Amino acid sequence: MEKLAIDGGSKGLRSPLAQWPIYGELEMELLKEVLESGKWGGAGGGGKPGYEPKLPLMERKFAELHGAAHAVSVVNGTVGITVALQAAGLKPGDEVIVPPYTFIATASAALAYGIIPVFADIEEDTLLIDPEKVVQRITPKTKAIIAVHLAGAPANMTRLKQIAAEHGLKLIEDAAQAVGASWEGQGVGSIGDLGTFSLQSSKNLNAGEGGIITTNNRDYWENAWSICNVGRIPSGGWYQHERFGQNYRMTEFQAAIVLAQMTRLEEQMTRRERGAKLLDELLAEVSGVKLLHNDARITRHAYHLYMFKLDKKLAGKATKADFIRKVNAEGVPLSAGYVPLNRNVSILETTKMWTGEDRTYECPVCETMCENEAVWLTQNVLLSDEQAIREVAEAIRKVAASY
Ligand SMILES: *Cc1c(COP(=O)(O)O)cnc(C)c1O
Repeated sequence: MEKLAIDGGSKGLRSPLAQWPIYGELEMELLKEVLESGKWGGAGGGGKPGYEPKLPLMERKFAELHGAAHAVSVVNGTVGITVALQAAGLKPGDEVIVPPYTFIATASAALAYGIIPVFADIEEDTLLIDPEKVVQRITPKTKAIIAVHLAGAPANMTRLKQIAAEHGLKLIEDAAQAVGASWEGQGVGSIGDLGTFSLQSSKNLNAGEGGIITTNNRDYWENAWSICNVGRIPSGGWYQHERFGQNYRMTEFQAAIVLAQMTRLEEQMTRRERGAKLLDELLAEVSGVKLLHNDARITRHAYHLYMFKLDKKLAGKATKADFIRKVNAEGVPLSAGYVPLNRNVSILETTKMWTGEDRTYECPVCETMCENEAVWLTQNVLLSDEQAIREVAEAIRKVAASY
């Protein structure tokens, strides 16, 4: 048996992984242009004559990229979710059905406005929200569903749309990890009532921080815009506040970075797809590893993460923590991923603060996946060259074979 790095063997990963973020002259040029324009923020007028503000341009291009009619930029993806729920008409006390296997913001963003997240379990083969479990969670208080396109893989939007229509629910897409992805040819963020994206540092399109809300519905766009602009209305006066809103605006500097990063997106997406395909091929041969199922209706996967699972047999022999420790020792940044949000103390306590109830949610699939099976690699691994990706797969094979 080959000696593992953790036992003093040589490291499986010797080649460097791709660095993140990636930038060049264009980012510097556009940033300088904003700096010298004097228009640094998104509100009001200002700026040198001839300067074309970056935020509206970026919003237009971002909406176009996803086939959405409108976009509103916002301080981050978390606030984007809160605003999208508000814009769709949800009120404090309403319930929204969310998956338990996602970043905490999917649920905490609802709670920030007193909207109660209710957890519907995930599918074992995709780790995405299970539409049939959503149906079981609907109550008279349910007003919306949040579909999370986790890892860049669109959730089953066909079935979720059908469920939302049957029960009169709004459908929000948390596409924080899925910039550029599509379901049956339709861009994420343009399929449900509203979509939200994140531009946080780790995300595939990054401005350090930031978020975007997309929609095809003009009223939702106006609501979202207004909520992000202290309740102003698009054609109204400066001190005309028609709705409850706050200041959730992004800066021109961030929009400049996004515009520059957007010119790199297609090439990076292609590179990630190539990396993921290679990992699929190599890991399919590894005994102990189980690949996720990619629905054929996913016409484009954004691969923010590359998720896979320890199969039941390996998970019976190796604890996930031990497996990860050994793979990490090989130099491969394998992550244990999320913990079940349906058990998260801050979510349950905040739910109690709003409802007065001690709620519990059973999501056995999510809990098993978190405890024993689900692991992931981040997108910069997929951007790496072929040699590095082969070494990553080989290190995983070596560790799996050691049990
Ligand atoms: C990153 C992320 C968010 C939150 O976005 P921020 O910009 O970090 O606030 C929400 N949902 C998911 C699924 C995410 O991955």
